[in-house]
Amino acid sequence: MPETIYDVAIIGGGPGGYTAAFRAGQLGLKTCLIEKDEKLGGTCLHVGCIPTKALLFNAEVYDHLKAAEEYGIEGLGKGKLNWRAIQDRKNKIVSKHTKGLDFLVKKNKVDRVVGFGRLMGPAKGGIHTVQVSGADGKTSEVKTKNIILATGSFARLLPGLQADDRILTNIEVLSLPDIPKSMVIIGAGAVGVEFASIYRTFGSEVTLLEVLPRLVPVEDEEVSKELLRSFKKKGINCFVNTKVDKAEKTKNGVVVSFTPQGEAQQKLEAEKVLIAVGRGPNTENIGLERTPNIKTERGFLHTNEWMETGEKGIYAIGDIVAGLPQLAHVGAMCGVVAVTRVAGKPAKAVNKNRIPGCTYCEPQIGSVGLTEAKAKEAGYQVKVGKFPFTANSKATIINNHEGFIKVVSDAKYGEILGVHIIGPLATELICEAVTAMEMEATVEDMMFTIHAHPTVSEGLLDAFGAVEGKAINF
Ligand SMILES: Cc1cc2nc3c(=O)[nH]c(=O)nc-3n(C[C@H](O)[C@H](O)[C@H](O)COP(=O)(O)OP(=O)(O)OC[C@H]3O[C@@H](n4cnc5c(N)ncnc54)[C@H](O)[C@@H]3O)c2cc1C
Repeated sequence: MPETIYDVAIIGGGPGGYTAAFRAGQLGLKTCLIEKDEKLGGTCLHVGCIPTKALLFNAEVYDHLKAAEEYGIEGLGKGKLNWRAIQDRKNKIVSKHTKGLDFLVKKNKVDRVVGFGRLMGPAKGGIHTVQVSGADGKTSEVKTKNIILATGSFARLLPGLQADDRILTNIEVLSLPDIPKSMVIIGAGAVGVEFASIYRTFGSEVTLLEVLPRLVPVEDEEVSKELLRSFKKKGINCFVNTKVDKAEKTKNGVVVSFTPQGEAQQKLEAEKVLIAVGRGPNTENIGLERTPNIKTERGFLHTNEWMETGEKGIYAIGDIVAGLPQLAHVGAMCGVVAVTRVAGKPAKAVNKNRIPGCTYCEPQIGSVGLTEAKAKEAGYQVKVGKFPFTANSKATIINNHEGFIKVVSDAKYGEILGVHIIGPLATELICEAVTAMEMEATVEDMMFTIHAHPTVSEGLLDAFGAVEGKAINF
């Protein structure tokens, strides 16, 4: 049998890698997907996006049930959480979608190889070799014209700490045996605040420690302020500008020593500590040293806008790419761009200013484009419109009317520079703002776009109107 030479081999079967593989199949490319684990889906499906959102849904329902009498539903009592059932439901959702990926591999005629993929150096005669090591120690080779690296990321820990049953990363925290009585969360980025939301709703005493001056530091300042207000109201202890000095295990838990700026050191004992201080790239040991033209920065790979590294025929996508937010939908779109280029078809590069950032804590956050501060820094003459959800009738109906929508626009031409939402359905609503910006709609275009009534999305119509001082409902 002649040796198979693939058009593209993808290393890593997370949302970046599997999306690239499925689109490659759709484009008629002979495609191989190399994943070290038996299951496809990566961080996102197994220990990231999907299980966290499953738990957040439990939390949302539980919160609604706590207000049952307000809705006129009597007889439910205080309610009690069945942690085992919550975990089972989450696991079933993950399994269902893992099976879905197996089906899509076949549907898109992708060859799947289980094993750890490693580059073997630049192409020889236009053909690259990937060495694949199986769990049994046996190695094989995959020959391919192009390679896409999509090896993802790992949770960073603090120096000297190791994950175990008390010091947790996103992996351990998703399958705890019980709901902990107390938890300290180090890091108030998306991962930290989502778990703060989940476990606080489930009844844990939660303390959030953030070294930067605000929660969700990449978001617009007003969004951070609103989240802090809301979290404090829910009883989450929040410390910003706070440095964690050490975490030490005790007989029953962990003592965390931390120093808020300008104050004395404090100590707090909790049953569990979650470390959510960012994610490093899985790029060690994948043969990068053999391909000197691939440029790296602290392990992250540099690419051009078509996701090409400096080595001909080798692309990189997803969490390992320098300068891109580590989000599943970013990795997935980068995968689409890369394989479209491999297929020689016209593609559209990812525009960093059109990437929705979604945080699914309660209240939810959805944002796109420049924050007010960044727009000013970039030299724009900024005009802002803000609409509070308290004035939106649907938000009142669904009993979720905290927060606001903020539109950041350019005063001269009405260009939409950024939209920042905190409140009900923010992670769904932001899609409209992304589409508007992608289509280069102006504030005026959006002010004449009919939004159904009563909907939470009408809030966007009011927020665009607010830029011109013409919100109808506020
Ligand atoms: C708790 C948490 C919640 C999150 N929630 C969201 C969210 O709601 N929305 C969102 O957009 N993002 C979310 N993210 C981020 C999202 O999970 C990542 O951005 C996304 O998974 C990155 O996709 P990827 O394909 O680059 O890498 P990964 O998903 O990490 O997948 C990489 C895959 O490559 C495999 N692999 C690694 N090295 C090799 C090798 N050498 N050979 C073969 N296989 C290899 C790994 O086993 C893995 O399956 C969350 C992350 C966390 C931790």
